[in-house]
This record gives sequence, C-alpha cells and structure tokens, in this order.
Amino acid sequence: MRIVFATNNLHKLDEIRHILGADIEVLSLSNIGCHEDIPETGQTLEENALQKARYIYENYHVSCFADDTGLEVDALDGRPGVYSARYAGGSGHDSEANMTKLLGELAENNNRKARFRTIIALLIKQDVCPCGCTSIKQEHLFEGIVEGEITRERSGAEGFGYDPIFRPDGYDKTFAELGNDIKNQISHRARATQKLAEFLLNNTTKR
Ligand code: IMP
Repeated sequence: MRIVFATNNLHKLDEIRHILGADIEVLSLSNIGCHEDIPETGQTLEENALQKARYIYENYHVSCFADDTGLEVDALDGRPGVYSARYAGGSGHDSEANMTKLLGELAENNNRKARFRTIIALLIKQDVCPCGCTSIKQEHLFEGIVEGEITRERSGAEGFGYDPIFRPDGYDKTFAELGNDIKNQISHRARATQKLAEFLLNNTTKR
C-alpha cells in the first residue's frame, strides 16, 4: 500500500521507511505536491497530530499519518509540552534559545524528571461514501514515551532540539552524547513509529 507521512523531514522519512520495509510505500508532502503550511493550532499533541492528518486527508483524499512531539517537564507542570518547538518564542525551532529558557526556568530545582512524548495520528481511507460527497475513514492514535531527566548543562553534539539536556532513564549520557544509533532504538518517536508499523503491517498491506 501507499501512505502519506505529513512531513518533509528527511530524517523522519528515512526512519519510518526503514521500519516499514518494502511492503508499504511512504510518500512525503512534497511527493504529493503539498507545499502549504499545515495548520497546527491544537492545545495537545493529540489534537495537533489529528489536525495535520485530517488536513491532508480532506485536501488530498489519501491514507496518511502525522506526528507531534513534546518535552514534558514535571517541575514545570508539563511545559513546554505542545509548545516545545516555539518555547522561547519567535517562529520556533530555535533550539539554543529553547534550552536556555528551560534551564533558566528549572534553575536549581532538584526535580529534573521529564519525558518526550510522541503522538502519531493515522487516517486510513476505507471506502467512498454512497452519496460520493466524502470518503469514510478510520482514525487511530499511537503513543511513544521515553522517560528521563533534564541535565543541569548541555552535553553532546549529536541529535537536535533538546537532545543536549535530556538524559534518558538507564543511561548516564544525554541523547546528544548517545548518538542516533542508540537514540533511534529507545526514543519516543521510535516507540510510536514501531506501534504504527505493527498496525500497518498487520492490518493494511492488502489494501
Ligand atoms: P516535532 O513535533 O517533531 O516537530 O517536535 C516538536 C519539537 O519538540 C521540536 O522542534 C524539538 O524542539 C522537540 N523535539 C522533538 N523530538 C525531539 C527529539 O528527539 N530530541 C530533542 N528534541 C525534540
């Protein structure tokens, strides 16, 4: 089967294609000619992932999935959470500014407990509605979590985002020190992606 992943992030595309193998062809947004900014205005990761997947489904009428990730810090009541990309303001994805803000807010707080959480929303096209107005779809959500703690300073040069200040439980190094080989086995996104892959491979390959 063919399915669209609502992203143009090559790292995410490679990861999912590797896990899904040859039976499932994963297309990117540019592969389907989608160049618009997809709205992401939800208050939760679930809402955002569903919003992005529904946008693609409604405009392109294809089976698709979308993801959203947040870093949830206990001592900050779950912040930055759904606002992780743009925590320090601006148009977002300024990782240095985001980490500086987070470390500043936590300051000397000894409760450093945190987790990365990824939600993947999958929309499977089922059939065409008898009146022809729309198609019937199934919606599914998959969650991946990695527990850990926020370090007191940055360490490591690999990865992206908050990787230099997140140490997963069971390791004495940050994600940025552990590197992608280990991170991709234990990360929030890898765990959610694995659940998606199991579902697709067991339920949809014949469609
Ligand atoms: P997205 O939903 O995958 O775009 O993630 C939202 C934001 O969460 C990113 O801009 C990063 O700041 C942060 N983030 C997501 N995944 C990771 C990760 O694996 N390591 C570090 N930061 C991440």
